[in-house]
Amino acid sequence: MKTEKVFTSLRVLINDHHEDKAKFCVECGKLATQEALFSVGSGVTLIEKYCGLCAIIVGGFKPTLI
Ligand SMILES: [Zn+2]
Repeated sequence: MKTEKVFTSLRVLINDHHEDKAKFCVECGKLATQEALFSVGSGVTLIEKYCGLCAIIVGGFKPTLI
């Protein structure tokens, strides 16, 4: 069975200052500021970290400022 990853929502990534590791965008490697939530079926949610721009792209929104 093929698992399909369906984008559901974005939320602001809270960087925990008690953690040593900063979180980076999975697309471009910049500091992540957003989390994108995907439904992968069976009620399972996958969370990936993105910077602001990649989060917009992965969410299917076209950047308005070019
Ligand atoms: Zn990025």
